[in-house]
Amino acid sequence: MQLEDVLKDVLVDVADHIGEGKVANYIPALAKIDPRKFGMAVVTVDGDIHVTGDAEEAFSIQSISKVFTLTLALGRVGEGLWKRVGREPSGTPFNSIVQLEQEQGIPRNPFINAGAIVVADTLLSGHQPRETLGEILSFMRYLTDDDTIIIDAEVARSEQQTGFRNAALANYMHAFSNIHNPVEKTLGVYFHQCALSMNCVQLAKAGLFLANRGLLTRGGRSVVSWERARRINALMLTCGHYDASGDFAFRVGLPGKSGVGGGILAIAPGKAAIAVWSPGLNANGNSATGTKALESLARRTGWSIFG
Ligand code: GLU
Repeated sequence: MQLEDVLKDVLVDVADHIGEGKVANYIPALAKIDPRKFGMAVVTVDGDIHVTGDAEEAFSIQSISKVFTLTLALGRVGEGLWKRVGREPSGTPFNSIVQLEQEQGIPRNPFINAGAIVVADTLLSGHQPRETLGEILSFMRYLTDDDTIIIDAEVARSEQQTGFRNAALANYMHAFSNIHNPVEKTLGVYFHQCALSMNCVQLAKAGLFLANRGLLTRGGRSVVSWERARRINALMLTCGHYDASGDFAFRVGLPGKSGVGGGILAIAPGKAAIAVWSPGLNANGNSATGTKALESLARRTGWSIFG
């Protein structure tokens, strides 16, 4: 199987769907992105890179950042993190507040907004927001060996000005003592991590350790243990697409994490990390054409964690 050819076929499969879906407009800076963009990158565990479309154009990775902050937070506080955030799919939209009251301020999982805000709070403790953001940015640059990655200050500001729901979630959890730092500082970290600007190649490179038993490259340095990589993949599969996580597992069969910027990072363990970008979102806030492209790629490669 030539991945180069597979990517060409994927592009043909999705060509009629490029531009479908609705670009996220609740963050004003994202509303102006061209919905007809489409890019995909596959980075194999051997380090080969295959691309198609706008794979080298940077976009706002938004919630895909939650995979990397979770990795950092597990490194920082270990299993203790699970006292403050659960590991169950929520079955609710990404910014839902309903479960937080019944579950006393403990978010269902680290990939819904409430959970990611708690994760950001753990990274902030003992630091200033600037230091925590520096740590996150350094981690992304280390994983990709690429110092050009930046946080888009305009996107962060845009979300800061309109992120009332996230402010509500953070304040609500503070009332349950599950946010330990000043709410504005924790939210500042969260909004800026979401504003990381990366292209598909960079994103697939950053996720490769999850396909590679926790190693940066085959036989290379360890980012996390094999067990931890497996567990992060498990959370991506069960919780990575909010209330459409089951549908994504059914259609694609790989762990994945989406973001409202239209990106998705998917992991084919032992094979490759895949990043796709198409800004139009479906009703669940996940990239419409990006999901179709991953479905096509998984079918054509036979990659699946289900056999
Ligand atoms: N920054 C976005 C928010 O908090 C992230 C949501 C997403 O990408 O799914 O609303």
